[in-house]
Amino acid sequence: MEGLLTRCRALAACSRQLSGSIPRRFHHCAPGRGKRLVLSRMFQPQNLREDQVPSLEGGSGDLTCKSQRLMLQVGLIHPASPGCYHLLPYTVRALEKLVRVIDQEMRAIGGQKVSMPSLSPAELWRATNRWDLMGKELLRLRDRHGKEYCLGPTHEEAVTALVASQKTLSYKQLPFLLYQVTRKFRDEPRPRFGLLRGREFYMKDMYTFDSSPEAARQTYGLVCDAYSSLFARLGLPCVKVQAGVGSIGGTMSHEFQLPADVGEDQFAVCPSCSFSANVETLNLSQTNCPACQGPLTETKGIEVGHTFYLGTKYSSVFNAQFTNVHGKPSLAEMGCYGLGVTRILAAAIEVLSTEYCLRWPGLLAPYQVCLIPPKKGSKEEVATELAGHLYDHITEAVPQLRGEVLLDDRTHLTIGNRLKDANKFGYPFVIIAGKRALEAPAHYEVWCQNTGEVVFLTKEGVVGLLSQVQVV
Ligand SMILES: [Zn+2]
Repeated sequence: MEGLLTRCRALAACSRQLSGSIPRRFHHCAPGRGKRLVLSRMFQPQNLREDQVPSLEGGSGDLTCKSQRLMLQVGLIHPASPGCYHLLPYTVRALEKLVRVIDQEMRAIGGQKVSMPSLSPAELWRATNRWDLMGKELLRLRDRHGKEYCLGPTHEEAVTALVASQKTLSYKQLPFLLYQVTRKFRDEPRPRFGLLRGREFYMKDMYTFDSSPEAARQTYGLVCDAYSSLFARLGLPCVKVQAGVGSIGGTMSHEFQLPADVGEDQFAVCPSCSFSANVETLNLSQTNCPACQGPLTETKGIEVGHTFYLGTKYSSVFNAQFTNVHGKPSLAEMGCYGLGVTRILAAAIEVLSTEYCLRWPGLLAPYQVCLIPPKKGSKEEVATELAGHLYDHITEAVPQLRGEVLLDDRTHLTIGNRLKDANKFGYPFVIIAGKRALEAPAHYEVWCQNTGEVVFLTKEGVVGLLSQVQVV
């Protein structure tokens, strides 16, 4: 025991010595303070010209939309192969936030999270005849034993077989809502629009099991409401429209469409009543609302969510049963519900950004605040220390912003140049310690990117403003 203690002391002394000998440039924090996130030590946000954007084919000819171009220009994604992108640190932060919001909404309606393998055995797909029906969209492969698989684009078969294996499922457990957020694969003939139509992407898929068609329809409504609540929290004006059932099947389906010019779906809305539908579900000649006969308006949209009422299409194949109120086995009534996770992020950037500046849903911004201290050697340089104190004060007084404030310490650049970068990147709040930081009391210039306002605030004013920021 004593030997161990001695060893610990020796180790502690050793680590003290070590940290004493670490060159100054490796120190991330001021003594006695919390860690400061300094931009120069991180994966650098870029500000590339269009012709500097990395591209597989060389040149920027394959830039197909604004979100793709902006995400490449600031270094959010990097192309790996057609339809596949490296997601760089800022994107992963934003996606993690999006998944947290999705988790909150799915758990609020009783969803339980699972994770199913991406490798999906062919026999499951043969059982529903989708091994043939899905055609070339399915990415197929064989293992060393010659066994066939696909990389799952969706998991109706897998989840239904899983639930069928749970022999003790009782009506008391229903509705049973299972969901996952995993990578999905689709062999797109022509991947395009960056993360909007890739071959490998993140999707949230939920599968629900109910005791009767009525109960299943109720659950269907519940999940749709959760989707609406999610998009409202993200500030995205999504429209729920009637849709076709495609290769998934079932008897009722809706899409959540985000209106956007780059959208590949066309949907019709009736301005006089609440009717809206994907034009694929309408007759070619139909220009009037089937509900009120008023004229329909057509809009392009990005499909960010899709819901299906499946009935017993899958549960009958895999014999997914539960014990009903009379103690007898009964087939589960199913629904399935998808959200394109990477697609939601790209679609949000597509509709919120200007031609030259990225904008995020406030909840999803990778960092909420960018703090810009004065340029080295400038008249305002004495305010550098104030900026550091302001950083520490914000992270102490506004606990939800810990880990959310970046200090742009590239002080060899002018404030103007760094402001330009910050504006392009779209931090919701950019705070500048400039000329007016030398006043008594110090005033900081605060750019509220999502409202377009610029205000001068004291330290207390900054904290008052930032304490209202919601972070997920
Ligand atoms: Zn109408």
